[in-house]
Amino acid sequence: MSELQNILAANRAYRDGFNLSSLPMPPGRKIAVVACMDARLDLYSAMGLKTGDAHLIRNAGGLVTDDAIRSLVISYELLGTREFFIVEHTDCGMLTFQNKDVHARLKDKLGVDASGVDFLPFPDLRQSVENQVKAVRASKLIPQDIPVHGLIYHVESGELEHVLSA
Ligand code: ZN
Repeated sequence: MSELQNILAANRAYRDGFNLSSLPMPPGRKIAVVACMDARLDLYSAMGLKTGDAHLIRNAGGLVTDDAIRSLVISYELLGTREFFIVEHTDCGMLTFQNKDVHARLKDKLGVDASGVDFLPFPDLRQSVENQVKAVRASKLIPQDIPVHGLIYHVESGELEHVLSA
């Protein structure tokens, strides 16, 4: 059962009340966020953001991958962001598996050898947040004068905990 029809119907209502057509392309608050894709994480509400305020770069874990760096460079260099946030969260799915588990499932289900693919699971949330902040800071493509903040969102309470800045 596809959600397509539900989504198109919801969009018709959205379009009929649409009033954001004059938003400029550069984020109004000059912020970029790298965050986990987790469905419980409503970054707009949790961070007090509105549409047009920030770039949201999301993937499994909220990890600073090469592609996240690509987006951050475009964000600051072409669209003027000046402060970066990394948001990971408690109860993250990335804490619950190891590469070999996914490799075995894909072998089983699709008959493919995915042993060369790192799905980037991590065993320690706080350590991971630190690692992501360090990864941004270590990138030669990111200017040192852009502050990078690492935060943990607590899915149990809604709290956004500041872990470190660099
Ligand atoms: Zn997650």
